[in-house]
Amino acid sequence: MSLIPKSHPRAKSLFIREKLVKGFENGLVAKEGLLAQGRGEAFDYLLGEKTSRLAKNAIRAAAAQLLLAERPVISVNGNIAALCPKEIVKLSKQIKAKLEVNLFYANKTRKQAIIKMLKKSGAKEVLGSNPKTSTKLDGIDSARRIVDKNGIFAADVVVVPLEDGDRTMALRNAGKIVITFDLNPLSRTSHTANITIVDNVTRGIDLLIEECKKLSKRNKDSLQKIIYNFDNKKNLAENVIQIKNNLTRRARIA
Ligand code: ATP
Repeated sequence: MSLIPKSHPRAKSLFIREKLVKGFENGLVAKEGLLAQGRGEAFDYLLGEKTSRLAKNAIRAAAAQLLLAERPVISVNGNIAALCPKEIVKLSKQIKAKLEVNLFYANKTRKQAIIKMLKKSGAKEVLGSNPKTSTKLDGIDSARRIVDKNGIFAADVVVVPLEDGDRTMALRNAGKIVITFDLNPLSRTSHTANITIVDNVTRGIDLLIEECKKLSKRNKDSLQKIIYNFDNKKNLAENVIQIKNNLTRRARIA
């Protein structure tokens, strides 16, 4: 039972923290994952803690890209497994994507805990733990380059929520189209990905599932047009302007 009263002005943010702490206690989340959440929270605060029009545009482009993908894969880390396991599994079913556990801080026990959590949440198969099918991505140091031959290695489109810049770059260099959720519009990942959804993954994930459902009847040309009309760099720049405007407004009130 949560000790956070629903009436608390920061209740939503505290519930998310609680999920991560629980995930840490259950062996899903790394210590560093807790800190990464803190960085995300700071940007969420500056963005107004709501899904913006800009994030919705990115979600639409991401959905179109996922529907056009031939071999989509969703990369799952500890934070995602703690924050939204059911939703990630639902998204994978909606777009027929494979799930692969891929950790920045590789650890067999944690990997197994994440796989167990995804299976408990409805996943039939989770890649990333079979040494027989593991292979290496170029351009990244040894511990983090391991991926599954049948998953990320073979994928054309990879969703990497809450990823670090090096790995995003390695995926781009390997020719993948990369979609990410990242609250920091200044991060290397945000700037390296093809489509960056600047939103809290806990808010945006349901919208992405909905959008995939909504666009699933569209033809290829129409989906391609949505992607063509989306400019990631422009979207990121507008997110920075949004932060600036929010701060200016607050500074006037103060
Ligand atoms: P980069 O290497 O891309 O510059 P980084 O080193 O700042 O990134 P990491 O700590 O590797 O970042 O990854 C965490 C990223 O995920 C951060 O940019 C953070 O803002 C973002 N993040 C954390 N929690 C969430 C969340 N709940 N929803 C969306 N983004 C989040």
